[in-house]
Amino acid sequence: MKVHNAEIVISAVSPKQYPETSIPEIALAGRSNVGKSSFINTLINRKNLARTSGKPGKTQTLNFYLIEDALHFVDVPGYGYAKVSKTERAKWGEMIETYMTTREQLKAVVSLIDLRHTPTQEDIQMYEFLKYYDIPVIVVATKKDKIPRGKWNKHESMVKKALNFDKSDDFILFSSQTKEGKEEAWQAIEKYL
Ligand code: GDP
Repeated sequence: MKVHNAEIVISAVSPKQYPETSIPEIALAGRSNVGKSSFINTLINRKNLARTSGKPGKTQTLNFYLIEDALHFVDVPGYGYAKVSKTERAKWGEMIETYMTTREQLKAVVSLIDLRHTPTQEDIQMYEFLKYYDIPVIVVATKKDKIPRGKWNKHESMVKKALNFDKSDDFILFSSQTKEGKEEAWQAIEKYL
C-alpha cells in the first residue's frame, strides 16, 4: 500500500471509545522497545507519527491510526515492563483481551518479536493467546540489520522454535533501518483487508 495519509484517531481504554466504523483493523503487539513504533512509522512513511511507545508511567491506551481511509492500525501498549504493578498489569491484560476477543473489525495481529533474542515468556504467551482464539497472526521479527546475514536463518529458527510457530502463519524479517521486509509486511497485511 502506498500511504500518503495517516492520522491518529483516538486513544481508547474501553470498548465504548473504539471508533464506530466498519473499517478493518490490524493490531500491533510486542514488548516495549521491540521496534513497534518504528515499524508503524516505516509502513506509513512517517518519521514520528507513532510515538516511541509505552514508556513507564505513560497511560496505557490502544491508539487507533487511520491509514488512507482504508484501515486502522491499532497500536497496543508494549508489554514487559518489570516495574509495572500487578494491578496495572492485570488492567493491561484485560484491556487487550477485551479488544482482541470481541472486536469484529480486528482482522489480524502483527506480533513483533526481536530477532536478536530468544522470545520472552510474554512473546510466547501472546502468540499462544492469538492461536487459541484463532486470530490471524503475522509475526514480524525486528532489527534484522543488527544480525549478520549469515545468522539470519539461525535466529529465525530460534524464534520459531520458541513460539512453536505454525507454518501457515506469515513470518517476516524486518528492519526499520534498511526498510527490508516493508513490502512483504504490507502484502501480508493486505491479505486481511
Ligand atoms: P517500541 O517501544 O516497540 O515502539 O520501539 P521503538 O520503535 O521506539 O524502538 C526502540 C529502539 O529500537 C529505538 O532506539 C529504535 O531506534 C530502535 N530500533 C527499532 N527498530 C529498529 C531496527 O529495525 N533496527 C535497529 N538497528 N534499531 C531499531
